[in-house]
Amino acid sequence: MPNFIETYHCRTGTINPISYPVSSFDDLSKCLEQASDAHDSGILLDINVRTNLLNKLHEQIVIRKQELFEVYASETSLGRPRFEIEFERTLNQLRVYRDAAIALEQQRTESILADRVISKKPIPVGPIAVFGASNFPLAYSTLGGDVMGAFAAGCPVIVKGHPFHAGTSLLSSEIIRDTLSKLKLHPGIFGHVLDDGYRIGQALVQDTRIKGCGFTGSYEGGMALYRIAQNRKDPIPFFAEMGSLNPVVILPNIEDLTAHLHALVDSITTDAGQFCTKPGVIFCPSSLIEEVIQTLNARFNQTPTHPMLHPTIQSRYETRLNEIQSTNTGKLYIKQDQEFSVTQGFMHVQNTELNHFETLRQEVFGPFCVLSEYNDIGMLAHTLTKLKGQLTTTIIGKSPEQSTLFNLACSMAGRVILSGVPTGVAVIPEMHHGGPYPASSDARFTAVGEASILRFIRYVSVQKSHGT
Ligand code: NAP
Repeated sequence: MPNFIETYHCRTGTINPISYPVSSFDDLSKCLEQASDAHDSGILLDINVRTNLLNKLHEQIVIRKQELFEVYASETSLGRPRFEIEFERTLNQLRVYRDAAIALEQQRTESILADRVISKKPIPVGPIAVFGASNFPLAYSTLGGDVMGAFAAGCPVIVKGHPFHAGTSLLSSEIIRDTLSKLKLHPGIFGHVLDDGYRIGQALVQDTRIKGCGFTGSYEGGMALYRIAQNRKDPIPFFAEMGSLNPVVILPNIEDLTAHLHALVDSITTDAGQFCTKPGVIFCPSSLIEEVIQTLNARFNQTPTHPMLHPTIQSRYETRLNEIQSTNTGKLYIKQDQEFSVTQGFMHVQNTELNHFETLRQEVFGPFCVLSEYNDIGMLAHTLTKLKGQLTTTIIGKSPEQSTLFNLACSMAGRVILSGVPTGVAVIPEMHHGGPYPASSDARFTAVGEASILRFIRYVSVQKSHGT
């Protein structure tokens, strides 16, 4: 008898009536065999097959929107407005990857030398394993950027569905399988497995038929799987986009302070702060600290709390808050909501304390941030260098690109935001989402925009002598 995965409705605090069977090693083996067979068939080398697949998938996802919404809402606590944003982002991503597939096809080049002709073309690396995150059941999961990027590159995909939204993942999988069947394409182009621990996911990365992996999730999970991928007899590329602290620097010359602080609190609390780009630390000059504390505190108090995605995420969040509190530094400004028992707010510390306690410099996945007081820009630069790689770094003030911190921000982050907030990642070719390690395992290719396609191709040169 298989084990079953239960999903939760955190808004009502109830377990959903339907549970989902955990995949067996036989199920995994079948997916791997079929994916390998689909790759060997060469069917996805044809650009028309790939664009038809992506177009048809787009059509089928739109047709099944309401079904997707119902299961998404039942197991995530995310409401309709968030679903609409994520749904549109998922479709947009699909269109961007279809266009990227066409552009990739045009990358074939040829040089005629005196004695030979050399051509170069991109080819798919082979079957890809994809792990999505808990906080994006659509855009970073089974219908997400890595899956569409791999299809656009011409690779079959096996997804390890996230157990917190197993129903959404299975419905997404059904939509992809139905689409393959409607187009009479090889069923091995897409496979899906569920796991209630790490055995199936780790065996997937370990299998020699898998030629690359895309991962979105925590640092711990990403690095555990990365090590497996690197320690194989035949190491494979493993692309992990992980958590981030997303520092925000307020410069002493800031204008419209209140509006910026309100926008920051909204960015920290939206959907209970469960975003990889949520601001995790705000650096504030001593000259403004009293006003900033007052304004932040009032805004956090006025902002309604939102239930978290899953009881496990909530308990991890509470553990992190306890770790931060146990440093016995600074002063906490928090409120706890009665309905969902979610705590939101911030802790004011001195920069020296942030430098001293590593736990203050690590991601808290939830509606909380550290407010770190600095009185010297030179010392702040020293603190920033201690923060390691980030998905984003934000500088707020007058002419922030002229600040001495601007180049430092570019060197430490994948995206630098000038006088804005880091949440809200646009899916456009100009977007770069991954940052230097430990924000990502490879900062060169992000799953957002169109760059994920480059994760899953390699180039081959063909050399021909004249007259052959
Ligand atoms: P997670 O716990 O790392 O889970 C992601 C996936 O990896 C799940 O399928 C999980 O399976 C699997 N996994 C985790 N540890 C594993 C291990 N040791 N061996 C095999 N599989 C393992 O992350 P999450 O809680 O879903 O997502 C929240 C985190 O993701 C936050 O840190 C957030 O910042 C980050 N995130 C990053 C981005 C980005 O673009 N950089 C986007 C969204 C979220 P189980 O669930 O069964 O453990």
